[in-house]
Amino acid sequence: MNVTLQNLTKKFPNRNKKAGGEVTAVNDFTFEVPDGQLIGLLGPSGCGKSTTLYMICGLQAPTSGRIFFGDRDVTDLPTENRGVGLVFQNYALYPHMTVLQNILFPLENLKGKDRPGKEEMRRRAVEAARLVQIDSLLDRKPSELSGGQQQRVAIARALVKMPGVLLLDEPLSNLDARLRLQTREEIRRIQRQTGITTVFVTHDQEEAMSISDQIVVMKEGVVQQTGKPQEVYDNPCNLFVATFLGTPPINLFDGRVEKETLYIGGEALLPVPGIADQAVTVGIRPEGFVPEEQGPFSCRLLRTEIMGRDVSFVCTNDACRKETFRAIIQSDGTEQSHPETVRFRLKPGKVLLFDENGSRLRGTNHGKE
Ligand code: ATP
Repeated sequence: MNVTLQNLTKKFPNRNKKAGGEVTAVNDFTFEVPDGQLIGLLGPSGCGKSTTLYMICGLQAPTSGRIFFGDRDVTDLPTENRGVGLVFQNYALYPHMTVLQNILFPLENLKGKDRPGKEEMRRRAVEAARLVQIDSLLDRKPSELSGGQQQRVAIARALVKMPGVLLLDEPLSNLDARLRLQTREEIRRIQRQTGITTVFVTHDQEEAMSISDQIVVMKEGVVQQTGKPQEVYDNPCNLFVATFLGTPPINLFDGRVEKETLYIGGEALLPVPGIADQAVTVGIRPEGFVPEEQGPFSCRLLRTEIMGRDVSFVCTNDACRKETFRAIIQSDGTEQSHPETVRFRLKPGKVLLFDENGSRLRGTNHGKE
């Protein structure tokens, strides 16, 4: 089932009563989640992700705008009539109930003709438990489970009513790094297997990029960019999106364009056809540097760090906005010599230019300046 958000806006009275006025948590959000896709809603703390999710599930009413599940306008429906499954950061399992009883709970709460028979309830609960691979733990209490297992119970509990839409709000925040990785792959598998349209809220860009069909990047209530993770990473529309996506982050330098050539300091780095003379912010992805004896960009090398397959060159340059920057270089396994000065050639597709307002500058080189 596709989910359509139409000009969705949510305003709250300001919590700071002295300051007065309103906080616009979500501002004119329009987006269609295609049937069966997993959408990652992404942005820094306070950007409006959770509020958007709460409006989709009906826990909060929009100030204006409409929400459709398929053709059905659900904007004014209470949560229990929307057919959504919800998983929160605090999975809030009932501690006195077993895993099976926790999963059964939403079914037992159904009323009238929606309430399945006892056998059918059990069958569905066991099936949901099997899907998240906890069917061998049905008799345990939550306190006898690991964090990852508890989160799976929460997912099974959300799936047991066979919702048309699954909503996940930072579901992995309470897990340690390894379990996070494992559980996010698990969520992806379950989502693929069930084909449930899913919205996944996270502030962790790596998490969102790795499991989403599409990401929506938000800032201060406003959608900045939507698209496939790789497309948004390669082609960010502004400086905020460029810096928010990527680990290590994109490196920023003061530069200028003169006669369709990009300069950092006195060095001419790249032709940038179609871009007018101006001061620019130059963003260079860490993987955009190629060490080359005659390369046009000279930097001071402070140290190198081996990162398995790759080597990270930690460098300085007077035009860099930070004290140091990182170039990730593919290692061929041979010992590298570490001169004090390194020269780089830049991969044109990994160099992004922004104007003084942070908007992306695109030349005539198909955006690959
Ligand atoms: P986080 O990642 O920290 O959960 P978020 O992106 O989910 O952040 P929201 O919780 O949606 O952000 O909040 C968006 C904005 O709306 C914030 O400025 C927040 O302070 C404000 N806000 C949220 N709920 C309320 C409320 N009930 N009353 C007043 N302001 C609120």
